[in-house]
Amino acid sequence: MTIYNAPIDEMMFLFNNLKDNENYNEIEKFKDINSDLVKDILDQAAKMNQEIIHPLAQVGDENPCVYENGIVRSPPGYKEAYSKFINDGWTSLSCDPKYGGQGMPKTVSTFFEEMLSSASLSFKLYSELSIGAYNCILHHANEKIKDKFLPKIVEGKWSGTMCLTESQCGTDLGLIKTKASKQKDGSFLLTGQKIFITSGDHDLTENIIHLVLAKVPGGPAGTKGISLFLVPKFNVNDDGSVGTKNGVNTLSIESKMGIKGSPTCVLNFDNAKGFLIGEENKGLSSMFTMMNLERIIVGIQGLGIAETAYQNSLSYAKERKQGKSNNNKNNQTDEIIKHADIRRSLLSMKSIIEGQRSLAFWLSQQIDVSLNHSNEKIRKSAEELVSLITPVVKSFFTDMGTEITNEAIQIFGGYGYTKDQGIEQLFRDNRITPIYEGTNSVQAIDLVFRKVLNNKVLSNFISIIKKEIKEENGKPELEKFSKILGVSINHLEEFAKWLEEKNKNKKDDVSSACNDFLKVLGYVSLAYSWFKITKVSLDRLNENKNFYEEKVNTANYYFDKILPRVEAHYKSAKAGSDSIMKAKFN
Ligand SMILES: Cc1cc2nc3c(=O)[nH]c(=O)nc-3n(C[C@H](O)[C@H](O)[C@H](O)COP(=O)(O)OP(=O)(O)OC[C@H]3O[C@@H](n4cnc5c(N)ncnc54)[C@H](O)[C@@H]3O)c2cc1C
Repeated sequence: MTIYNAPIDEMMFLFNNLKDNENYNEIEKFKDINSDLVKDILDQAAKMNQEIIHPLAQVGDENPCVYENGIVRSPPGYKEAYSKFINDGWTSLSCDPKYGGQGMPKTVSTFFEEMLSSASLSFKLYSELSIGAYNCILHHANEKIKDKFLPKIVEGKWSGTMCLTESQCGTDLGLIKTKASKQKDGSFLLTGQKIFITSGDHDLTENIIHLVLAKVPGGPAGTKGISLFLVPKFNVNDDGSVGTKNGVNTLSIESKMGIKGSPTCVLNFDNAKGFLIGEENKGLSSMFTMMNLERIIVGIQGLGIAETAYQNSLSYAKERKQGKSNNNKNNQTDEIIKHADIRRSLLSMKSIIEGQRSLAFWLSQQIDVSLNHSNEKIRKSAEELVSLITPVVKSFFTDMGTEITNEAIQIFGGYGYTKDQGIEQLFRDNRITPIYEGTNSVQAIDLVFRKVLNNKVLSNFISIIKKEIKEENGKPELEKFSKILGVSINHLEEFAKWLEEKNKNKKDDVSSACNDFLKVLGYVSLAYSWFKITKVSLDRLNENKNFYEEKVNTANYYFDKILPRVEAHYKSAKAGSDSIMKAKFN
């Protein structure tokens, strides 16, 4: 079994030193969320995740969900753990107190999301979509629906799902066939089949609230004719109690490569009663509330799993003895952590993970501002930054999750490939994250065509970074970092200009460069994070030499060894698409 210790010191370092967004610090309702309170929450969260949820990761992998006689059963131990999880209030952490939530900011709940992802992604997925459903209902449903459904979802007694995918319709949601016919009482009856539905059915909650995309006959073709419906597994009576079974049935669950403790369901909707959320034919934009937040959380899944992979690799590298290092003095076999190549591998993991955690913390502040600041202009500007960085967090973090879990297997050697140590499970569990919630390539296409070519958000983001560099102008200890970050920013700007030029007459060059551009933005964003971490660490060196010196060294590694990847991506993109489009694939 793997080990996991929640990185509370790292999280508190960010909360205490990098809560640097002035607009965030102006949000009235978060003024009492102080360091002591956050530390207390993280301590409790660590206990829950380390002692109760993390042991279930292996259990779920070895005893996957079972589908029997129309019923889906979760792995052994999940029911008891989920019961404790909701009794301790973890589903309500970031929800509105009006519906029973604790009203914590995203800066805090994102730390919790990371811990839960590190402990067990399968277990996490039961409650994760509930929070997505909560947000979607909160922002788009009428008061009656909110009052009826939200308190139970917040309490965790009812869970939620997101039902988009059908067999013929994955990325291209315009192909949806599920139909919704309007009834005299204003409700709808839904008929069709959804596949790959996470937590579509299970035995942990007394009801499941499906958010379903469907088409009302007679509406516009394609994505313009999609509406969003709330369809409960069991109908809900006027007094809020659970009533008769609705027309939603589980046909089967998938047998999968990873996240085996999470049921991925085929659901049949057979005249299932549903309620319109938001306006008819505007369902996709409402669903995007859920999808955008989910995309960030999926990115955090990649970060969380990578953290577990790193912790285990580090621990193994300190124990496993093989060969003699260059500096061996006693002629005895060395621990593999003494080999430069293993150290390189560990430091790559560490520098990416800590940079990502810091970027996620920055993004959380922007989300909190976009949702809660009193000034509309400030809210809007934060919302644009969130929209720019969301595909980066989703794709870059999950791709790095694949890289890091792969590196972990390599550090463990043969013991990483075999099952005993639980390392290969991390790779398998992470592997879905670049696929669901919109594949990583589709995120990259969205980033370039919708967010970079069509508006000026990228230049806002670049200005923020340039301002940060300028403020530190003249500090000799930061000179190296300012210089390298400045060069990377130039590459990013030149790359964006190149995309603009190519978009005028050679779109295939642009399409084939989207993944490279997303990576470049990802690496530069992490460099911005490391720049800020370095600044704080140099200032505080005397307070805790061990901690802050390690930070500065890791920053040096990131700038010297990881950030140069930017140049390779840019060069590859600029080579264009001729060979790509000429290929005959005979
Ligand atoms: C374990 C699991 C859980 C899931 N959970 C849910 C869930 O809860 N709810 C839900 O609705 N769905 C869920 N899904 C579905 C998931 O979101 C889809 O699998 C994903 O969006 C991709 O769709 P697809 O599999 O049909 O692939 P396709 O859309 O067929 O894509 C195949 C390939 O083509 C590429 N591609 C597609 N379109 C383009 C384009 N325009 N340009 C360039 N490349 C393109 C893709 O990047 C991909 O590489 C889940 C899937 C799995 C496996």
